[in-house]
Amino acid sequence: ATPTAIMVGTGLGAQAGILFRNADALEQAQKLTTLIVDKTGTLTKGKPTVSDVIPAVGIEQDALLSVASTLEAGSEHPLARAIVDYAAAKGMKTQSVNSFKAIPGKGVTGQIDGVSAFLGSPFFLKDNGFLETDSISSDLEQNGKTVVGVGKGEQFLGFIALSDTLRPDAVSTIQALKKAGISIIMLTGDNERTARVVAQEVGIDDYIAGVLPANKADTVKKYRATGECVGMVGDGINDAPALVAADVSFAIGAGADIARDTADIILMKSDLTSVLDAISLSHATLSKIR
Ligand code: ADP
Ligand code: MG
Repeated sequence: ATPTAIMVGTGLGAQAGILFRNADALEQAQKLTTLIVDKTGTLTKGKPTVSDVIPAVGIEQDALLSVASTLEAGSEHPLARAIVDYAAAKGMKTQSVNSFKAIPGKGVTGQIDGVSAFLGSPFFLKDNGFLETDSISSDLEQNGKTVVGVGKGEQFLGFIALSDTLRPDAVSTIQALKKAGISIIMLTGDNERTARVVAQEVGIDDYIAGVLPANKADTVKKYRATGECVGMVGDGINDAPALVAADVSFAIGAGADIARDTADIILMKSDLTSVLDAISLSHATLSKIR
């Protein structure tokens, strides 16, 4: 594209809340053949709320919530904020916690009253000996909810389910992208069952679940290695390495600063339609070569 076309394209983008951080991104976006899309915070709003609290047999709901909010108080994960807010609204007080640790893609752990406590994915709870299986395959997951487990000492305390809502333009955007001939793959650290339901809801056939943050970038590289021109859309700290690995990366709106600092294109309006608009702008810019 000519320097003038680049300037015009960048300017039009800025007016529409689409910040192209380099000329290359504006030129490359129209070449995308595959788009990898993060689930939480990208396809969904990323503002989960607690929908169900399910104490284990013989456990009080308050006991479950108290341990959960105590552990999550130190975490910045969106699920953590939801749990802390929910417990606070119920008047629960958090206890003090020692040796707190957040394990990306899995959960959190710490010592409460000198006893080890864990909160995280069913897989994480199984790994730490609280569950026999990670495939609890509950009705909750069939509804696309994320289910986390809580354990302390020797005891499994129960589950907490959280639901997040799809961005209102998720279905229409995915449909339009597919129509434009772009293959869509959903990528998530969430479990297989929840991922399947959300993918179906949005109209995505291919999804990869249970991906640890450290492995998201490898997935991008794998698709690039097959000759695809790969775009990545993400919102979180977890997505930064994957954004770097993509040919063209998009950070959605109010996401983490690190995602915005990393991505080639920043979607200020926090809507998914902007991805389509960015690609259209790229086409328009390139067709203006005289
Ligand atoms: P995503 O890729 O969907 O943004 P993450 O990689 O952040 O998800 O997390 C994957 C899974 O790890 C979550 O669905 C949850 O089960 C678990 N997890 C990670 N951190 C936390 C936390 N602080 N509180 C509860 N669950 C967590
Ligand atoms: Mg995310």
